[in-house]
Amino acid sequence: LTIARVSLPVPAATPFDYWVPDGLAVEPGSAVRVRLGRRRLVGVAIDLVGESEVPPEQLMPLDEVVVGLPPLSAEVLELARFVSSYYHAPLGQCLALALPSLTRPRRRASPLQNDAAPSAPSHAVHALNDEQRAAAAAIAAARGRFTPFLLRGVTGSGKTAVYLDAAARVIAEGGQVLLLVPEINLTPQLAERVRVTLGNASVAVLHSGLPAGARRAHWESAATGSADIVLGTRLAVFAIMPRLGLIVVDEEHDASYKQQEGVRYHARDVAVFRARTRGVPIVLGSATPSLETHWSASSGRYMALALTRRAGAHPALPPVRRVARRDGNAVEGVGAELQAAIRERLARREQTLLFVNRRGFAPSLLCAGCGWKAECARCDARLVVHRDPPGLRCHHCGHAQALPRACPHCGNQDLLPLGSGTQRLERAVATLFPQARVVRVDRDATRRKGAFDGMRDAITRGDADILVGTQMLAKGHDFPRLTLVGVLGADNALYSGEFRATESLFALLEQVAGRAGRGDEPGEVIVQTDFPDHPVYAALAAHDYAALASSLLSERKSLSLPPFAHLALLRAEARREAAVQAFLDNAVRLGRSLAGETAPACEVYAPVPATLPRRAGLWRSQVLVQAPRRAPLHALLDAWLPALTALDTASVRWSVDVDPQSFA
Ligand SMILES: [Zn+2]
Ligand SMILES: [Zn+2]
Repeated sequence: LTIARVSLPVPAATPFDYWVPDGLAVEPGSAVRVRLGRRRLVGVAIDLVGESEVPPEQLMPLDEVVVGLPPLSAEVLELARFVSSYYHAPLGQCLALALPSLTRPRRRASPLQNDAAPSAPSHAVHALNDEQRAAAAAIAAARGRFTPFLLRGVTGSGKTAVYLDAAARVIAEGGQVLLLVPEINLTPQLAERVRVTLGNASVAVLHSGLPAGARRAHWESAATGSADIVLGTRLAVFAIMPRLGLIVVDEEHDASYKQQEGVRYHARDVAVFRARTRGVPIVLGSATPSLETHWSASSGRYMALALTRRAGAHPALPPVRRVARRDGNAVEGVGAELQAAIRERLARREQTLLFVNRRGFAPSLLCAGCGWKAECARCDARLVVHRDPPGLRCHHCGHAQALPRACPHCGNQDLLPLGSGTQRLERAVATLFPQARVVRVDRDATRRKGAFDGMRDAITRGDADILVGTQMLAKGHDFPRLTLVGVLGADNALYSGEFRATESLFALLEQVAGRAGRGDEPGEVIVQTDFPDHPVYAALAAHDYAALASSLLSERKSLSLPPFAHLALLRAEARREAAVQAFLDNAVRLGRSLAGETAPACEVYAPVPATLPRRAGLWRSQVLVQAPRRAPLHALLDAWLPALTALDTASVRWSVDVDPQSFA
């Protein structure tokens, strides 16, 4: 009798045994369908053995092997094991990340080269400049051995050209290249550019927005080795690639590489592990690297490559003007200097991007009579005023309700929307500049499938004068007519309690500023702020990442925060506040006593409420664990988490987040 050990996507620490009926060809890595209780699940056979500890009469047979799916390679099985042990997540859930979607019947997708070809103009293939050539040569010279690179290149310096040059050399020698990007929206453009630059290379695209059939076809072309380049978002880090020769993580600092639910892995860090075990080079690219990566490069563990000049017509980065937010002539938050600058662009038929990182009309609704504010009944959060379509919405739990006609508290009909989101700014510029064509780009405006691509094409063609957008427009897009970027409302981020807030704000602003002046005309950036001398704006004006990074690093060092310490966050939530408190009090007591035995260097802090203490009716609190090195942190978690499972926690949902990106 052959027994298959099957790892299933359920919260269980161990695999389940099934006997293999005659005629089923199962091997380690095969995706199989089995029954678990009343459910039918797809899992992965991780081992084949001769006997089981389960009595034979209780063993169930394996139902079937998923047809036509190549087994997960030994390397991907090892990768999943690493993710499971590092992030303390059940192996079955980690393996599920490596499988394509199997929910819908299989449909042969169109040939890989032809799908998702956008109508964006093709990028001309430019010769590399000296810096680009040196960087690409260094990467190519590291072929066949693990070498981590940080490619720090200012916005517009042509990092992608470096990736593709190095990729071409790897492909020419028979290797496959894994190229990770942070946003689904960036994949069609980049796939097109790969096709133009690399001619005959076959490209597989992997992201969660693809239809199941297409995703499976692309997944298979990566797994069989027929794709030369695999281009995708964070989940693509698990793609089977038999000829993997190079990994690139573009915009490596981007928070979207970290999965925020289920298995809370960081795709960049998993990619570094994968490069090390496969013995291949990895390139982490960014204009504003994460402090962790920057520190690894400055301490010599990563090789630093730099692109200091823009590759296009205007080698200088756009000048940044810091102007007062309140200037007496502001209209709905758009100050006089910004208005004048927009007017100049309209006269020259150039484009302006107004960046405000809040969607909706106004972030809150206030009663002028009694001071009442519209709040979500289920979250500790204000309701956001929307006008398109009208209503009040909670951006945390999705709750929606009609706009009240009068204050529910005092009956006053004078209700004021406070602050400004994208919809209000769109309306304001349409009033200020009635002749201008205004396009709003945010999550609400692009909900319809294909809407974003349509807007991007229209902007590129020049069918828009003023773009009002959130961070959706900040990343990676290249609009040649865009010469002015106006930043509004960025000060809000300065009040955040998150330890990465300054780093993230700078990265976002540098990226959005980098949209200006990428074509033939020079660009300009105007930041409206109450704090023009704040270090983050000073660094932006000087485009001086290094200075800001070094001051943030010394702050991190004095507070024992990453990269000088390692963190894990135990999060818990429940309907009753007392249940969360009781669970975390017990957890802390246990954690401290275990730390005393196994990992004295670990600090287990007292429970504190989450940044948003109540969300969707659940009370949320957390416990921070801090350690000077990774080993004691993992030793503690290995002992602690099973002990927590043993606590009676029926009413409490908890999870652990290793290397948390935020305390939200
Ligand atoms: Zn009132
Ligand atoms: Zn809510």
